[in-house]
Amino acid sequence: MTDLRALPSVEQLLQTAQAADLTARYGRPLTVAAVRAALQQTRAAAAQGAPLPDRAHLLAQASDLLAAWTRPSLLPVINATGVILHTNLGRAPLSAAALAAMDAVGRGYSTLEFDLESGRRGSRLIHAEALLTRLTGAEAAVVVNNNAAALLLALSALAARRRVVIARSQLIEIGGGFRIPEVMKQSGARLVEVGTTNKVRLSDYEEALAEPAALALHAHASNFRIIGFTEEPSLAEIAAAAHRAGVPCLDDLGSGALLPTERYGLAHEPMVQESLAAGADLVCFSGDKLLGGPQAGILLGRADLLAKIKKHPLARAVRADKTCLAALSATLLHYLRDEAEQAIPVWRMIAARPEDLRARAQAWAQALGRGEATASESTVGGGSLPGETLPTFVLSLAVNNPDRFLAALRRASPPVIARAAQGQVLLDPRTVLPEQETSLLAALRQALNHFQKDKPQ
Ligand SMILES: *Cc1c(COP(=O)(O)O)cnc(C)c1O
Repeated sequence: MTDLRALPSVEQLLQTAQAADLTARYGRPLTVAAVRAALQQTRAAAAQGAPLPDRAHLLAQASDLLAAWTRPSLLPVINATGVILHTNLGRAPLSAAALAAMDAVGRGYSTLEFDLESGRRGSRLIHAEALLTRLTGAEAAVVVNNNAAALLLALSALAARRRVVIARSQLIEIGGGFRIPEVMKQSGARLVEVGTTNKVRLSDYEEALAEPAALALHAHASNFRIIGFTEEPSLAEIAAAAHRAGVPCLDDLGSGALLPTERYGLAHEPMVQESLAAGADLVCFSGDKLLGGPQAGILLGRADLLAKIKKHPLARAVRADKTCLAALSATLLHYLRDEAEQAIPVWRMIAARPEDLRARAQAWAQALGRGEATASESTVGGGSLPGETLPTFVLSLAVNNPDRFLAALRRASPPVIARAAQGQVLLDPRTVLPEQETSLLAALRQALNHFQKDKPQ
């Protein structure tokens, strides 16, 4: 049996220089807790017959605990996957102006709900609204936490306990468990499905709208395509049928593109302006998909409908915070100034030219003395443009064990997320921010050194 009396006390350990270092870094209360925990672990191990560690070892154990307890789980990473709106990696990176706006309102007080003219209470709802209405021609707008909240709020405010007509082909799941039928149920709206999975006719809508209804809902099938024997009326036809029945039409666009994606060799992603022009009375979309801004949900359209929505109790529960409104306004300003393609990272990435991407991949290969630039494909992601790709060039590295190599890259600081195909590790410059290149190359060098025995390609 190990003699536990030989163990130093908490007090004795705290008087060492090593403990003073820890206290300076982590504060006294947490350091005391870590020293206690290290002693406790040591006693438990000793009870199993383990020898007693010395003081330096005990303090190293406390230091490891402190590092683990304070390590953030939300870390910046380098996205080398080539998926621009990577849902798991935080979707849209923000523009410099959006970040500056968040910083400015975040570090102090702001006019969030204050009217400078009168010196009285103002409304937070006005901040992005003027920009949104100017950009899209909508009469009014409201910004909430995310698009799921926008849809839930609109349905709750306009359709609780009433019928909402939607095509079977649009009862979609977006990912992360967001299912249109479940959101509708949560709002209290009564789901009226029309048509079949692959075939929906205008007459299906007209029959359903012959009975009293609150809304016709149109949802953009963001993340999949039905091909083959299919039919669906256009949004314009659905909106017209709804209007003939005296019912408004809500279009859940998902991505909310304000620029034409076909300009960049992609399929056309429905745009907010088009949705309104087609007759949608309300449109909702995300702030952090193709808009390229912060996480937000944007609802815009008819002023009378938005007045009801803004008054609903849920509007308070899902309202946007000041940093979100600041970043969103700054992002919208890029569109208004016609500088979105240069200023908004998502559009800069979409617009990146293959020859420039090849030059970057080649420069990486040269800097590492390994790998080569090979043709590949990037995707937009984020539930936009399913099946659509952008031609790119990746740095392709031949390594013995791609999975272990990828795992090593994930352990770098900052972590690098990449992909593997056909025994090669592929790194796409399209989604790597220029200021991250030095860190990326350092992570690659370290991983390559670690796997020395891997033959150069
Ligand atoms: C992405 C998406 C949503 C959910 O938006 P969040 O901002 O993630 O809440 C809802 N509807 C559609 C059609 C979408 O594509």
